[in-house]
Amino acid sequence: MPEFAPNSWEARANAHVLYGFTDMPSLHARGPVVLTHGRGIHVFDVHGRSWIDANSGLWNMVAGFDHKGLAEAAKAQYDRFPGYHAFFGRLSDQTVELSERLIEVSPFPDGKVFFTSSGSEANDTMVKMLWFINTVKGRPEKRKIITRENGYHGVTVATASMTGKPYNKWFGLPLPEFKRVSCPHYWRHGEPGESEADYVARLAAELEALIEAEGPQTIAGFFAEPVMGAGGVIVPPAGYFQAIAPVLRRHGIPLISDEVICGFGRTGSIWGCQTYDFMPDAIISSKNLTAGYFPMGAVILGPELATALTEAAEEVEEFVHGFTASGHPVGCAVALKAIDVVLREGLFENLRAVAPRFQGRLRALADLPHIGEARGVGLMGALEAVADKDTKEPFPAELSISERIANTCMDNGLICRPLGQAIVLCPPFIITEGEIDRLFDLLEKSLRQVFREIG
Ligand SMILES: *Cc1c(COP(=O)(O)O)cnc(C)c1O
Repeated sequence: MPEFAPNSWEARANAHVLYGFTDMPSLHARGPVVLTHGRGIHVFDVHGRSWIDANSGLWNMVAGFDHKGLAEAAKAQYDRFPGYHAFFGRLSDQTVELSERLIEVSPFPDGKVFFTSSGSEANDTMVKMLWFINTVKGRPEKRKIITRENGYHGVTVATASMTGKPYNKWFGLPLPEFKRVSCPHYWRHGEPGESEADYVARLAAELEALIEAEGPQTIAGFFAEPVMGAGGVIVPPAGYFQAIAPVLRRHGIPLISDEVICGFGRTGSIWGCQTYDFMPDAIISSKNLTAGYFPMGAVILGPELATALTEAAEEVEEFVHGFTASGHPVGCAVALKAIDVVLREGLFENLRAVAPRFQGRLRALADLPHIGEARGVGLMGALEAVADKDTKEPFPAELSISERIANTCMDNGLICRPLGQAIVLCPPFIITEGEIDRLFDLLEKSLRQVFREIG
């Protein structure tokens, strides 16, 4: 760790902050970065250094870091009614407004909404909804949840069990009722000579085999991100959802689209399920829902699940679930404004206009040595580093290749995220073509520097 003066922000952070999702070797080598503010797509630290944040914070700051209208919406609501819950049939007017607006922009004209404070809580709530419906309706054994390897659904006990990352073994997870199928990544997992269509058929057969082995009557739901975000921007192979949706339907298993990242435009449609042309039974939203200006999540149930949950609640008198901050009036006011900012004030339009430039510059980097795959859609993308482009062999783990690239980017004024051996990019929706060029110029310079260093 570099030496920090005893009263520096860095020393104070190290003294009293417990770091989550932080690579300890990098932290020790470089120290923390303490930020004070942001402007547009840039963030600034206590020393006046600044970076392009090519990750929109954590995917969510889609309107940038100084959107006046969002801050004003929060302020106005704090003045009007600064906090309330949504228990006992009492709720704020903003909660009603936002529920209506969410249904309006969702694919479910007869859907219903339940609010949480985070994406993890929204997925966790969805699991409990399925368990509640099934238990009340006399099929208590219908409880198992299927997700994909490498999928990310959160960090609570249930959602960490759904998250298909190896690190959850350190918590003794997943719990026994949580099952996995393969990560749909054709470039990495397609077999030599296997066509994309054959690969997709193999994945659908794998899902069907798991369902049959476990017994369809024991499976409560299947959760999937349209594009895996924290898995490293894994874009599904062509026809993937068209192949698995009928398998799930045939066995009476709801398909839940975890749109915490994909929702509100990231993939180039309002919802990822629209980009990939499938109809889920429910949508999970968070992150972009408030453009990152308030912690909030939502479960948006399609008509069948909405009816089933309402009936179950009637039967046992109440759906015994909720968070103190569910439907928080300030969060709802901010989300209402965020939806307007994205859909009516030009952010979504801008995203669609600049996405080709973003994808073009991204794909051009696949010509560099050691970039095995450049992949992405809309305003999300990843570069997969490989030791050998022909065999796709990864770098030895001890080289920490993606950490090394991300740290070099930091030194050059660019924040991007290492994930596995990939570098992930998901800039705010306000980014201009000029800023995209600047971002990729910095990234290319950093990649060349690292590849030179490692020889
Ligand atoms: C971030 C994320 C979550 C978890 O959201 P939190 O607000 O961090 O709890 C769930 N699902 C997906 C797809 C995510 O990207």
